Amino acid sequence: MSIKFKNILFIIFAIFFILDVFLVFSFDNQDTTKNSKIIFFDVGQGDSAMIDAGNNIQILIDGGDGNVILDKLGKYMPLLDRKIELVIMTHPDKDHMGGLVEVLKFYEVGQILETGIVCETAICKEWDKLIKEKNIPIKYAEFGQMIKINDIDIKILYPFNNLNNQRVKDDNESSIVLRVDTENNSYLLTGDAGFDVENELIEKNINIKTRILKIAHHGSKNATSNEFLMKVNPQKAVIPVGKNSYGHPAEELMNRLKNMNIEIFRIDKNGDLIFNSN
Ligand SMILES: [Zn+2]
Repeated sequence: MSIKFKNILFIIFAIFFILDVFLVFSFDNQDTTKNSKIIFFDVGQGDSAMIDAGNNIQILIDGGDGNVILDKLGKYMPLLDRKIELVIMTHPDKDHMGGLVEVLKFYEVGQILETGIVCETAICKEWDKLIKEKNIPIKYAEFGQMIKINDIDIKILYPFNNLNNQRVKDDNESSIVLRVDTENNSYLLTGDAGFDVENELIEKNINIKTRILKIAHHGSKNATSNEFLMKVNPQKAVIPVGKNSYGHPAEELMNRLKNMNIEIFRIDKNGDLIFNSN
């Protein structure tokens, strides 16, 4: 085999390797109607959003706690569609993951994207058991991964490295951060990430500028800094919050948003929020 031919083979293998690593999910049957939407669910004190990409393709990002999520999916998914193509679990806290366990029981899930950080709680054990029983493929999130469906582009911005099997001090600070770009809208979803993750994103000069920001950690005062808000520069902020004893959303956070004239949507006051892609 000539050296030149070997080089070409190497390049071909490299391309396949890159595609496999970074393309988490794609769907080629392009929906020309471009009627995708993102729904932020009112799941009480918790966090859950669904990207409805059209063509019966759904991506669920977190599921709140308990089975409220099942009512929401029943309401917003087509009657005969029992499959969620991709479930993204930002981090294994009960108010994000508890509902996803219910989803695994009652829906077919095509694929899971999570960080894989070590978690030994009862809910994590149940999660792992259900995934094994149902043989659901898992990918571990890391910066650069992409998900492409119809007019929707999703990019994983955090964590920067694969955290599978790693122990972390604070699982909030391991949350998957992702940006969603549709034809005329852009969204930043930050799980429960706090100032540490925000600073890392800013330091690495990651493009986080988006029109709609899903506020991290239910409006905690320890997330969504002024500097972060200036970089994201959102027009609208969605606060996934319900009745709670943590003081969410914090007054400090509300003032930061108001000072920048960002339009605020509180899930506890507005209920489910639907944003169309165009
Ligand atoms: Zn949370």
